[in-house]
Amino acid sequence: MALDLEHAALEWDTPLFEMALAQFEQALGHADIEDFVAERLRYPERAVMLSVPVRLDDGSLRVLPGYRVQHSTVLGPTKGGLRYDPHVSLGECAALAMWMTWKCALLKIPYGGAKGGIRCNPREMSLDELQRMTRRYTIELRPVIGPEEDIPAPDMATNAQTMAWIMDTYSMVEGHAVPEIVTGKPISIGGSVFRQEATGAGVVMVIEGACDRFGWKLSEQRCVVQGFGNVGGVAAKELVAHGATVMAVSDISGGVFSEGGLDLAELESWVEKHGSLDGYPEAEHVSNAEVLELPCDILVLAALEDQVTGENAGRIDAKMIAEGANGPTTIEADAIFLERGIPVLPDILTNAGGVTVSYFEWVQDLGRLFWGHDEIRMKLAEKLADAFDRVWHLSEQLAITPRQAALVAAIREVAGAMTARGIYP
Ligand code: NAD
Repeated sequence: MALDLEHAALEWDTPLFEMALAQFEQALGHADIEDFVAERLRYPERAVMLSVPVRLDDGSLRVLPGYRVQHSTVLGPTKGGLRYDPHVSLGECAALAMWMTWKCALLKIPYGGAKGGIRCNPREMSLDELQRMTRRYTIELRPVIGPEEDIPAPDMATNAQTMAWIMDTYSMVEGHAVPEIVTGKPISIGGSVFRQEATGAGVVMVIEGACDRFGWKLSEQRCVVQGFGNVGGVAAKELVAHGATVMAVSDISGGVFSEGGLDLAELESWVEKHGSLDGYPEAEHVSNAEVLELPCDILVLAALEDQVTGENAGRIDAKMIAEGANGPTTIEADAIFLERGIPVLPDILTNAGGVTVSYFEWVQDLGRLFWGHDEIRMKLAEKLADAFDRVWHLSEQLAITPRQAALVAAIREVAGAMTARGIYP
């Protein structure tokens, strides 16, 4: 029997990839691009599956599945995070790679999207084990990554140290230091000041822009932040720095709540000492599900994907939602928020501060010339404000949601380049 190519499931067809694709299809109706471009963009250009052998500290060997997906190279090299998590899959990487393409295009950064990961439990691994795993993964990917090909960055459970191991491994093979192979690395080896804070700070720049448009004062907003890691932790501090109240934050262990506002510095030192928010004595403890449903003005989703769904969107009690994480709101939840008149500041705009300063880091590395904190913060604010204005304008012009407007702007950007370049050969 002939294989039905049209309807055969592809390896990356998972619920998260279907969600990314469904958002793409929704936006296509307004994007007005050629069919061949749309068809090409439904597929990642390259999806690599690896098995990564890791010698554990007790001498035994484990082999872990690893992935790297590159969605589009139309605008330049691909760029995207590397995550260590038990749920990493090819489909998850493919969805996140597609979102990265849109994010870079929306910000007018000359990159396409990529994402990678290793399916592991990083919390159960020692630093030495993580180092061996990272170095082996880097070597396995050597043929497809590079400063002009694909540039990794930190994501869930990876950090500046992980990037330093990748940079060192790659540089050893090349025979000279290649800082531009990764971004989000330590400043001592070519990292950029303000990279670590960029995503969380960008989230608050976008929130501030939206508050201005709605005529709200950011200093009067009561906020809940899901996720107290790199993005959520910085976003919470930036909100407080702007005078807003952060009433609740959460991490994988659950949430903490204080009506009058949390002491973030104390929370941070608690987490540093104890590993999570669990047991923090100065606030009320609530479950992860309850955190999302607390009455507030602004709910910042900065943990992981698939958090607000058709099941709980009706119970969210916020005036506005800001997506610091990638893909935290499902298509069904989006429809419910549209009906309820709750604006969602979409991930590809709201958390784009990270990739923007990653791009600045890469440019600085290539030029061997480094900029200061204030200059980078100002350049980031300019880029985000420009993208925000274009999204808002398109959203009003076409009467579509900010998510659809952000996707339309991004898809048009990629489509313009693809139409000019054509399909090889
Ligand atoms: P991180 O590992 O530093 O922090 C993640 C936080 O979420 C941790 O506090 C963790 O405990 C918490 N968490 C995990 N599961 C949870 C759950 N079920 N409920 C509540 N909290 C939970 O990761 P990060 O770098 O802050 O990334 C967070 C999100 O932001 C991810 O979706 C990532 O893809 C996205 N993002 C990150 C960056 C960046 O620069 N780091 C840039 C763009 C997007």
